[in-house]
Amino acid sequence: MEMAIILIIILLIPVFYVYTLSKNTEDVEYIKDEKKCPKCNSEDITIFSTRNGCSGTETIDFKCNECEYKNVFTINSGNASCGI
Ligand SMILES: [Zn+2]
Repeated sequence: MEMAIILIIILLIPVFYVYTLSKNTEDVEYIKDEKKCPKCNSEDITIFSTRNGCSGTETIDFKCNECEYKNVFTINSGNASCGI
């Protein structure tokens, strides 16, 4: 019986992870395309974008000044070169 519960938890973790990840991708696409908050559609937003060295990823720090929604997204900007 306990085994079944553990098994359910083990199966739920990746589902939750994938769901959170795809939701984040949706939000960051919306922010990039619309330049609006994905929660309240306010245009009063603050975005900090930081490139992470040579890894080709970019960190987007998003904050909405209207509803206080905050999130940090790590996106793949596709260019994984060091500029050599
Ligand atoms: Zn908002």
